[in-house]
Parts: sequence; C-alpha cells; structure tokens
Amino acid sequence: MKIKTILVYKIDLPLREGSYSFSSGRSIKFYDSTIVRIETDQGLIGYGEVCPLGPAYLPAYAAGVRAGIAELGPHLIGLDPTQVGVVSRTMDRFLKGHPYVKSPIDMACWDILGQAAGVPISTLLGGCDGEAVQCYRAISLDLPERMAESVAGYRDEGYRRFQLKVGSDVSTDIARVAKVADGMKTDEVLVADANGGWLSHEALQIVHAIRDLDVYVEQPCLTYEENLTVRRQASQPFVLDESIDGIGALLRAHADRAMDAINIKISKFGGLTIARQVRDICVAAGIAMTIEDSGGSGIVTAAIAHLAHSTPERFRFNCSDCNSYLALEIAENAPHRVDGAIAAPTGAGLGVSPRLDLLGEAVVKIG
Ligand code: MG
Repeated sequence: MKIKTILVYKIDLPLREGSYSFSSGRSIKFYDSTIVRIETDQGLIGYGEVCPLGPAYLPAYAAGVRAGIAELGPHLIGLDPTQVGVVSRTMDRFLKGHPYVKSPIDMACWDILGQAAGVPISTLLGGCDGEAVQCYRAISLDLPERMAESVAGYRDEGYRRFQLKVGSDVSTDIARVAKVADGMKTDEVLVADANGGWLSHEALQIVHAIRDLDVYVEQPCLTYEENLTVRRQASQPFVLDESIDGIGALLRAHADRAMDAINIKISKFGGLTIARQVRDICVAAGIAMTIEDSGGSGIVTAAIAHLAHSTPERFRFNCSDCNSYLALEIAENAPHRVDGAIAAPTGAGLGVSPRLDLLGEAVVKIG
C-alpha cells in the first residue's frame, strides 16, 4: 500500500464556553484546527488532526502545521502508511523537530493501519483495559467563586476530576484552590495546573499555603529546573506537562524523581507512534499519566481514547474528551462521555468519520 495523496483542511472550531483562559493572561476564543486526510492507492483513507491551544501554549501554532506539512508531505508520497515506524522516522529525517506537524500524519497512518488490519487502534496499542476511561474537566481561569460554580456545573454532567487553571497572583490562586477544594466530594480528584505561570518563589508560597488540601500540583513553573526546585519542597503529588516534551526529557525527569505523573499530549510527541513509547516507559517506571492533546475535535478525541483505553487502568490518572469543549461536532462516531468517562471507538482504525461537508476545500494538496 502507498500514500497517494495528502490533503490538509483548516477548520475553526467554536468553543462551548465562548473562550478559554489560562495562566499569564493567555486566552483563546476558538480552536484553529488542522485535519489531515491521507488517501492510498488501495482506496483506504485515514484521518488525523492537530490543534495547538493558540500560538503561545506549546512551541506549536496552527499556521505552522499547514506550512510544515507542505514542506514534509512530498517526502511521504509513495511510503506505505501501515509501516508507521518507517513513516515516523522518515518524517524525522526530512523535518527536524516540529512534532505537532507530524502528529496528524502519524495519526492518519495509524487510522489506515487499523483499517487494513480490521481492528481498532486500541487493539494495535495493546487492547482495552477496563470499560472506559475517566476524563477530567479543565476549569478556565476566573474568579474563585466562578471557578467553583463551573466545577459544580461539570460535576452535574458526570465529571469527577477537575483541573483548575491557575497562575495569576499568589493570593488569588490560593483562594481559587481553597474555594474549589472546599466543595470537593470524597471520590473526586482536584489538580491545580499553573501551566508554567509561577516563578518558583510564588509556587513555593502556594504549595505551602495549600499543603493541607487534597490537591495535585501540575507544571507550576516554566522551566524544568524551577519545577524541580518546587517539587523538592512540595508535599503534594506532582505532575509535569509542558516540561516533558520528549523521551529524553522523560528519562531525565524520572532519574531526578521530578514527578509522580506526566501529561501525554499526543501532538507533543509527534503522534501515536512516539506517544505509545512514552506511555510504555511510564508503565515500566511506575509513572501515572494524563492522556490528552492540546485541543481538537472528535478525531483527536478518538486517538486519545484509543491510547488511553489501551493503557493499564492503574496508570491512568486522567484523560481529556477534547471534543466536549466544542460547540460543533465534525466527526461521526467520536467518543462521547458517559458518567464522566469515554471509551475507545470500536470501528476499525480511529473509528470516526469526519463530516466532509464541514471541512470545505483543502488548503494544502500533495500528490
Ligand atoms: Mg497541563
């Protein structure tokens, strides 16, 4: 089988809440998402998606995806998409870095591999463990009372895990965590995620002030070294997200015992091929995982569900149903949350069907 054509679509996805805010004054009004369609000479078609959370979250931006695929795509025509390792290494050979550019291509190849094998991607990744995967809800940064109200609303929708966006001033952040922690039920999980928004002296004030609350601390500071400083003086379970951007970073952080859990965003690692390696290292090393991506529709959510559902249940800290943050559905058969959890689609490959009528004309065509 050969890759015949690569088509790239841009779609602006409206947010259910109208906007999404996180540390350091960052806010987005919609998701600028990129959908990749790979057509093969044997008629199979695979889809992938990547959606950076605006241009200032990770070193990734939406227009860069499209430019990167235009650069990389011609080198992939003629490759066998079912040889996902070969495709992944070929992408690394012709484009240094830029994992977010490679992620939707890798995802589309896994979609084709699953269809060719007649099984869901979750089977290729080891097989589903348990019935479903618990999702967390990110709570947009706001006044403490409003964040508590938001948690209550999402609890009514079935969520039991909440990730508070923090990372403004010290006293308000302490109030945010305290206010929400006060209303937590016994079976619920609360994470305070600063997305790197604190300096270490601020983070230390905060982790000490909330030391008696049942809360996880996630990526308090920007750099790995600052986070390590905080980690070594904090009593809370500690999660690293933005700092873990590759296998080298993971191995170093594990050697330093720098965290108890990490966030696997599929696009941070260039797709499912490397994300699976990261997942398997974490399982071997006893590191729990939040499996997610920076954003996207039902296509990304399906990929997340396949990776998360095939991860041993004990190692699943959290998972994100990105699709439910949107006011628009662009893929049929995407995972939908039941009692706060999603399951991997059961169809072959990703198991979702993007609505072509919503994608419009391709903005990049290769092959
Ligand atoms: Mg995070």
